[in-house]
Amino acid sequence: MFSPEDFSRIRPWVSWRARQVGIRIKGVKPVVEWSAARISDPVWRLRYLQAVAPRPHALSRVKPVPAIVVILLSVVGCGAIVAFRHKPVIMRAFAGGPAAPAARPVEVREAPRDVWLVEKTAAFESYSNGLRIENQYRAEGDNRSFMAYPLGALGSNAEPRSVPVGIVYHTTESLLAPFESSQNTVLKRVGESLLEYVRRRRCYHFLIDRFGRVFRIVDETSPAGHAGHSVWADGEYAYVNLNDSFLGISFEAQTGAGEAATAVEAHQVRAAAMLTEMLRRRYGIEAANCVTHAQVSVNPDNMRIGYHLDWASSFPFDRLGLPDNYIVPSPAIRLFGFSFDSDFEQRAGPRMSGNAAVAEDQVVQQAGAAHLAPELYRKSLRKLYRRLAQPAGTGAVAGDGVLAR
Ligand SMILES: [Zn+2]
Repeated sequence: MFSPEDFSRIRPWVSWRARQVGIRIKGVKPVVEWSAARISDPVWRLRYLQAVAPRPHALSRVKPVPAIVVILLSVVGCGAIVAFRHKPVIMRAFAGGPAAPAARPVEVREAPRDVWLVEKTAAFESYSNGLRIENQYRAEGDNRSFMAYPLGALGSNAEPRSVPVGIVYHTTESLLAPFESSQNTVLKRVGESLLEYVRRRRCYHFLIDRFGRVFRIVDETSPAGHAGHSVWADGEYAYVNLNDSFLGISFEAQTGAGEAATAVEAHQVRAAAMLTEMLRRRYGIEAANCVTHAQVSVNPDNMRIGYHLDWASSFPFDRLGLPDNYIVPSPAIRLFGFSFDSDFEQRAGPRMSGNAAVAEDQVVQQAGAAHLAPELYRKSLRKLYRRLAQPAGTGAVAGDGVLAR
């Protein structure tokens, strides 16, 4: 019916088509590897392998069927096998069928309930879930715009966006007085000084002070300089330099590396839960995109993760109605070839270090599947990062004006 050469040409499309119709093919791996070995350009080979990588969430639910059935289904809908004679055409064909590189699935929680604005004045807003936002320190900003990069065609077919897609949680790492009634005057003075500072530098969208009060610093329609050089990805898209794509919420607090207990007051956590609920509801933000600064921060100078490490551990995801996103292996390592060192292991603690090691293993496996040495494969990933990070990656990217470690 087909020569081996023809089969190798249609096989990638068959794999993609099978995922579209929810069918798992037996014995895909040997054919995919065999096909990949025939793509001489390492970058195209890498992108090919990323495009045909299995999607664990979707595939685990469907019953396998013989490959020949899928081939017949595919050929009916194909009609242009000749198109696969050229690798660029192959990649354009994959652009509509993204396949997420392997990441451990996170627990799915219910979507946030309805939250509506109850009252609004020049000084504050109140919401139906008990949230109150103070606007006295609000600052003007520029319009938000950014690119979302589909995982199945990373580096091409970027989609322009203007609505925030995620939240990055921070701590201010600022000076803290004891939380006691005798320190009330000091607590207020320190808090006001901090608010003035973050407003001048437009550090975050929201700040939650020691008393659990929520202050809007920068409008959600504008970027804030909270994340700096950073990377994150959900099941469908990757995002680079999150100042423009994610909202920044900071706690007036300090977090220590590897600490088990949450180092913020319970009322600050309650305020963050109400704020998160409102923002997720208003902007349709996925739970998988609610993460901490330590999870997303990178250093392009040495290509290592963890330049900032606020909330490297002990972020109370469950108390904010979120799944434990700490279990997600670093997208910066998986997608863009960043690495980590023993210094990161010491400062970030065992949990994030363990997941960074998992991400490293995934890179080595992907390199093996691409028949490339890990270093060469990593070099391709880094090249892709640098391309996507421009122009922001070539200059100063604002990030965490308070936190300086
Ligand atoms: Zn931070």
